[in-house]
Amino acid sequence: MCDPCMVAKKSMARQCHLCQRSSLKAKSRSHSNIGTNRRQKVNLQKRWIDGSQMLLCTNCLKTLKGKRPELFVAAPKKKAAPAKKK
Ligand SMILES: [Zn+2]
Repeated sequence: MCDPCMVAKKSMARQCHLCQRSSLKAKSRSHSNIGTNRRQKVNLQKRWIDGSQMLLCTNCLKTLKGKRPELFVAAPKKKAAPAKKK
């Protein structure tokens, strides 16, 4: 399910790393029915999956949590700040 080449790719577009879902073009309509272009963004969440950080849509997160809960690992701890010398 976690294709390593897809993780390495990490394209600039904000899209899901698993299903490649990205934003859609839409229009907001005023009362006079004038359309203004806008974007409908995908609900993307950063998660640490199998040791690497991934952007996943909430649909994929839900599926993964049900099928492969062992892939979810805690984020690696940051280096502790060096102790101050007196
Ligand atoms: Zn997805």
